[in-house]
Amino acid sequence: MVMLQDFTALSRGREVPLEGRVDRCPRCGRNGIEHAEPNTLFFVHVQESEVLSDGMLTAPRDCCRLTTATVA
Ligand SMILES: [Zn+2]
Repeated sequence: MVMLQDFTALSRGREVPLEGRVDRCPRCGRNGIEHAEPNTLFFVHVQESEVLSDGMLTAPRDCCRLTTATVA
């Protein structure tokens, strides 16, 4: 079963368990949750979650990719 979590509908500053805090995407201006990776920063707006027998699989369905150079 696949579920979609739409972070753009949440208000800024809200804490989402296991995901992070909702903030404004500097690229498109919509709300999303920041995911930092080495050299790359993602703003996830819509996340897809699939419940498996041994856990949950999540993948970004709609996200903006920001390089750290853009952010700095
Ligand atoms: Zn964005």
